Amino acid sequence: MRIRTLTGSLAAVLALSSPLLWGGQAVAAPSGAPEQTSAARLLTYDASGSAEFRSAVDRGAAIWNESVDAVELRPASSGQRADIRVLADNGWPRALPTSLGNGTVYIGRQAVNQGYDTVRISAHELGHILGLPDRKPGPCSSLMSGSSAGTACTNRYPNAAERAEVEDNFAGARSGTPQRTEQTEAPGPVPQAVLIRD
Ligand SMILES: [Zn+2]
Repeated sequence: MRIRTLTGSLAAVLALSSPLLWGGQAVAAPSGAPEQTSAARLLTYDASGSAEFRSAVDRGAAIWNESVDAVELRPASSGQRADIRVLADNGWPRALPTSLGNGTVYIGRQAVNQGYDTVRISAHELGHILGLPDRKPGPCSSLMSGSSAGTACTNRYPNAAERAEVEDNFAGARSGTPQRTEQTEAPGPVPQAVLIRD
């Protein structure tokens, strides 16, 4: 019974993997390299709830794509569950990271109405999802200085240190075991999602 089950499973796996192993150009990939370690971690985002800020959110995501190699933010296709949800509301901008590369971002109209740059807000909040803390007070050259740089600040790009920190965050995640396994095996308390206001 057990052998039959295993054999059946093995047959199913072989049937599924055969076209990948033997079909087309897939076999041209170098053997012995199951994953390209240099590949960016793909994160999907859903900006369908970001209302009038949608283009600003897309720009903020593109800025991160231009700025770092370790991660790539891409709009989720419709019906796909996104890693990052981006919403608009009337509060102060904030982020609720649930794990590295996952969470919810709020583009709050309260700051927009005060004159803060919508693309800087978007890139800043996405920075929280990429594992960056606030660096306040800080200069305009820092993306994570957030509102402390004042409404006149329209710098939308992370500085060198912020870029390096994101590269490090995802380099560590990439070389380790898959996150799902890490979380179930974690002996300590499971990290709680903490709201980052601004
Ligand atoms: Zn912040």
